[in-house]
Amino acid sequence: MNLYSTNDSRNSVSLREAVLRSLPKDGGLYMPAQINKLERGFVEALSSLSFVEIAYRIAQHLIGSAIPEAELRGIVERSITFPAPVVPITEGISTLELFHGPSLAFKDFGARFMAQLMAHFTKGADQELTILVATSGDTGGAVAAGFHNTPGIEVIILYPSGRVSNLQEKQLTTLGGNIHACEIEGSFDDCQRLVKEAFLDQRLSSRYLLSSANSINIARLIPQTFYYFEAYKQCDSRDVVFSVPSGNFGNLTAGLMAKQMGLPVSRFLAATNANQVVPQYLKSGTFEPQLSISTISNAMDVGNPSNFSRMLHLYGSTWNAMARDVLGYSFTDPQTKKAISDLHSSFSYVADPHGAVGYLAADQYISTHPNQHAIFLETAHPAKFLDIVQETISQPLQIPTRLSDLSHRKKEATLLSSQYTAFSDYLLSR
Ligand SMILES: *Cc1c(COP(=O)(O)O)cnc(C)c1O
Repeated sequence: MNLYSTNDSRNSVSLREAVLRSLPKDGGLYMPAQINKLERGFVEALSSLSFVEIAYRIAQHLIGSAIPEAELRGIVERSITFPAPVVPITEGISTLELFHGPSLAFKDFGARFMAQLMAHFTKGADQELTILVATSGDTGGAVAAGFHNTPGIEVIILYPSGRVSNLQEKQLTTLGGNIHACEIEGSFDDCQRLVKEAFLDQRLSSRYLLSSANSINIARLIPQTFYYFEAYKQCDSRDVVFSVPSGNFGNLTAGLMAKQMGLPVSRFLAATNANQVVPQYLKSGTFEPQLSISTISNAMDVGNPSNFSRMLHLYGSTWNAMARDVLGYSFTDPQTKKAISDLHSSFSYVADPHGAVGYLAADQYISTHPNQHAIFLETAHPAKFLDIVQETISQPLQIPTRLSDLSHRKKEATLLSSQYTAFSDYLLSR
């Protein structure tokens, strides 16, 4: 498998280099040089394959000889350890539940697979790999759970003090072992800036082998293609569209990659909250990044989605080709709350605010395409957004034990100012 930078197609690297380095030096993002169609008959045979088998065959198709077969099978088996069930909501709409992993969000798929790939590529190396990751909430929990106890890898998670929920904080700060949390007196942007500065700091690069686990790493997108096939397998209808609640657009990009590999879906719905630069682009053909706007679906509060450049590349930078396959939708917080409440009262389904945005797009699309079937991605367990969901449905929610057990565990984090010297001193003194 070769990958190239979206800024320079001559800049080609191996999968190992793309995964360990995360970002090309030219500021682009790594993309597979080719995304070929899966073998003929694969889609027809889906119903006879388990989720793990589907995942293995796609991984093998994409990754090829970069990893020996037996090793790759182990990597897939250790990553895909929980199901992705499709649950019917109405005659025309179902949901694909992606929250059955350890941190209760779809990011578990990407984080676990990336941890396995990184462990594979650094096995036997004499230097430990140190992963730096900035989180505004969900990424950190998935990365902490995905990398916990992975041999040869240390993880340092930076999160903004007082700006993540109590349970999210527990997910980052209570595992111990190779997972370390830095509580930064600043914003998420400060955390990201500290990580970027650390990557440029020669004193650190001579001492550590540094990598990043943010969503720009191609290792996170590969496993996200698997569950689109798994969902298609479970759906009776053959005329399917996917509605993808989106922020940085990694999930949607993975769906488009699945389509290029031969998944027979007609369209994707790009469902956003008030941060609607991609729906605007799909309407006007102009991409204008904005400052992010705070909403109740806060994992999608992204004003300059980094995977947009990957989407453009998949369509040869042609607006009308992308606009044929991807329809844009944007919804407000009051609309999102009403959707949570309607889903509960009419269909006894409890959605989280992100899934609810996906449902709104699916519902709007199906009202004018009644012969198709829409599957919206439910990207987090509703208990991760306990206050807003309970308040909206006026009922207490049952909290999964994986989450409630954490509340008794002791937080361990290093409190640091947002000055770079504080962070570099911390790293150099470790
Ligand atoms: C990260 C996240 C999203 C956005 O996914 P992207 O791939 O960044 O578009 C949506 N919902 C939840 C719950 C998330 O954590």
